[in-house]
Amino acid sequence: MIDLRLKIDPLPIVEPLVLRLCESERTDPSGHDAHLIRRERDYREYEYLGFSVLVHATEDMPLDGDVLLIVPGQGSAHRLIRASSKHNTLLVTEQCDQLCVMCSQPPKKHHVDLFDQFAIAATLAPSGAYIGISGGEPLLHKDRLFEFLASAASARPDLRFHVLTNAQHFEPDDVGRLDAIGLDRVLWGVPLYASEAELHDHIVGKPGAFHRLERNLSLLTRAGASVELRTVVTQQNWENLRGLANYVVNRTPFVSVWALMQLERIGYGRMNWHKTFRDTSADFTMIRAAINLATAKGVAVSLFNFPLCSVPEPYRQFAPSTISDWKRKYLDFCEGCSARSACGGFFEWYSHTEGFSELGQI
Ligand code: SF4
Repeated sequence: MIDLRLKIDPLPIVEPLVLRLCESERTDPSGHDAHLIRRERDYREYEYLGFSVLVHATEDMPLDGDVLLIVPGQGSAHRLIRASSKHNTLLVTEQCDQLCVMCSQPPKKHHVDLFDQFAIAATLAPSGAYIGISGGEPLLHKDRLFEFLASAASARPDLRFHVLTNAQHFEPDDVGRLDAIGLDRVLWGVPLYASEAELHDHIVGKPGAFHRLERNLSLLTRAGASVELRTVVTQQNWENLRGLANYVVNRTPFVSVWALMQLERIGYGRMNWHKTFRDTSADFTMIRAAINLATAKGVAVSLFNFPLCSVPEPYRQFAPSTISDWKRKYLDFCEGCSARSACGGFFEWYSHTEGFSELGQI
């Protein structure tokens, strides 16, 4: 597992600070650059506006171009953007208005607004970066989120964003703002767990969520926004997957992709593991039916977070490597597997004693 925090010597600051670590000459210099002045075996010293920034890191850790958030009084910095990674996500809030049975990041009451810092970080991202925005529910802070996206989109025309949202908080007035940000700049990742309102609402823990979602999916369609529908496969919606496939092809055929996802064993996902995890290595029938139906009607389908050997061979083409590099692991039996370079492996917090029953080298 890659640590998204770096030990630092605390700085004499009173406001959160964003800076970029520079170890080589940049073609895009910025006033937020901290330049390497000393490199030892277990720490590096950078100069930033006359201050010394001491970062504790091993020699082999690539840090050139990384963007850090340093909070007053803290002895560690958040690696907001790792320049060498394609998996950079900004967690903009931990608040949420849903309580999904499998939530990997249970909501917190309080919100710390760091949108100004995230806006600076975005301007310092590597060229062509694709940045994830997640929560909690980012649209609980819709005005700030839209300001952030608009300013980042205007400062950096090369960036694109993937925003995870439950889509409960769009309003007709937002269509103009979506258009102004750039419809091709943002992919909205929206969860839909069942074709029946009652079941979806039960899974997300919010009465009325399904009908609100339906309304806002159609609003996003009218706006011309790009949408990725996301369905975590669980025991609760297993029998409904075929019905959901029907719903997707008939009611939301405009989606860019329908992602069927395996469960993440952390947060509520861990707490509710035994009543939620579906061992899809032992029984793939409902997923097979859903994929067959959707693809026959021209809807693109993807399997997220499925180890390749858990998927029947003809369906492995739908299972790209999706687990972020910093939270991915492989198991002992993955050694020597011919599919390892294409396989996304497992979440760091996956436990094989409670997981898939039928895996093995390809
Ligand atoms: S055995 Fe191969 S396909 Fe299965 S999880 Fe390990 S690397 Fe992936």
